Amino acid sequence: EAMTPKEVIALAQAKDVKMVDLKFCDLHGAWQHFTVPVNQLSEELFSDGLGFDGSSIRGWKGIEASDMLVIPDPTTAWMDPFTELATLSLLCDIEDPITREPYERSPRGVARKAEQYLLGSGIADTAFFGPEAEFFIFDDVRYGSSVNESFYHVDSAEGAWNTGREEYPNLAYKIRAKEGYLPTPPADKGMDIRNEMVAVMQELGLEVEAQHHEVSTGGQAEIDLKYDKLLRMADMMCVYKYVVRNVAHRRGKTATFMPKPLFGDNGSGMHTHQSLWKSGKPLMAGEGYANLSQNGLYYIGGLLKHAPALCALTNPTSNSYKRLAPGFEAPVMLAYSARNRSAICRIPTYSSSPKAIRVEYRCPDPSANPYLAFSALLMAGLDGIENKIDPGEAMDKNLYDLPPEIASNVARVPSSLSGALQALRADHEFLLKGDVFSADFIKNYIEIKQAEHDAIRLRPHPYEFNMYFDV
Ligand code: GLN
Ligand code: MG
Ligand code: MG
Ligand code: MG
Repeated sequence: EAMTPKEVIALAQAKDVKMVDLKFCDLHGAWQHFTVPVNQLSEELFSDGLGFDGSSIRGWKGIEASDMLVIPDPTTAWMDPFTELATLSLLCDIEDPITREPYERSPRGVARKAEQYLLGSGIADTAFFGPEAEFFIFDDVRYGSSVNESFYHVDSAEGAWNTGREEYPNLAYKIRAKEGYLPTPPADKGMDIRNEMVAVMQELGLEVEAQHHEVSTGGQAEIDLKYDKLLRMADMMCVYKYVVRNVAHRRGKTATFMPKPLFGDNGSGMHTHQSLWKSGKPLMAGEGYANLSQNGLYYIGGLLKHAPALCALTNPTSNSYKRLAPGFEAPVMLAYSARNRSAICRIPTYSSSPKAIRVEYRCPDPSANPYLAFSALLMAGLDGIENKIDPGEAMDKNLYDLPPEIASNVARVPSSLSGALQALRADHEFLLKGDVFSADFIKNYIEIKQAEHDAIRLRPHPYEFNMYFDV
């Protein structure tokens, strides 16, 4: 189904397209777009691209060098279901108009280079990624009030879930705190909206495996896509978020991929399943622990070794670190296990078929830019294989309940964005291989993210007024 420019033009004619929307992904994983009338659609558009001002895009060029090109990728064409006029969407790569080189800060370009690096390594020819993104659907009004509740109603006498959202007696099919997995309607009020999201995704060619309410009471949802190749999966995650946000919006709701919108309840993760394949054969399956191959174990070794630095890309917001706390099914300790959902790497045991053997990395959250997160995960896993990094013993205990003397010896995820950036500063050689991430990319990224960290650090927090106003 990958289309050529000619086929895209034919599709535009067949669908009576009026507008062509050019979308590209910025450093933060957000789409930017501009629109041209369909008479601009030609084969040249795909080779010569169109100019735009890169200096106004967050995290990109300064004004001294701002002209850039978007180069539409014909294999990504889809009809945008949210516009009034028939609109064809194309995802774009970014090039420098003078050198015609791919722009090294373009996330989609990073993902392309990661796939090339994999091929060149000879280790495998295909890396599959299967993200399980979670998100919250709030009423537009509810959203504002939930935030306030998180700040202020933190001392309810009713127990640990002191967000102020529990009601007693519960007479209205309200989901009890942390019991959102998996009641039916009428307690589950998100059935229809999630189905509508799934239907639109399917229309756009995304392969959906399941949708369900998630654990948090606040309308938390999960929609699972079938795994796919790295670049394609990252593209699909951008489409996924666009569909989730726009379906919510047209129903008078608002959806957020912020990792921890509600204090005291589960946050949203984006567990990412990964496997390597060579000539149609699964490379992670074997005779070792949990049916893993030696390469599978080394891949885990790479993920565990680089986990703190990876956090800067898989958990890239200050809010990400409010999710990574014990007691909310989010990982804290750097360990692996076949059983244990509290380990950062889990080896699912639903099936022992070699084709199904994979690593589930539970740390990422949906605020991650999927191109950057998947590329960095692949580079960490490959580094594990290239350097035969031993992941140590599996940890088949509930890591939240380890005795303190053992727990204090298990490495943990960073506790803040600043900690993750510090780790990335100290450990990024594995990302520079094959120039997948350039040194300039890493330096620029750390600067931008450090500024975000500081923007939060320097602001008096509403909850500080609760704790300190009367000191
Ligand atoms: N929401 C949890 C997280 O933050 C995951 C819950 C689940 O899928 N079991 O990772
Ligand atoms: Mg899931
Ligand atoms: Mg889940
Ligand atoms: Mg999972």
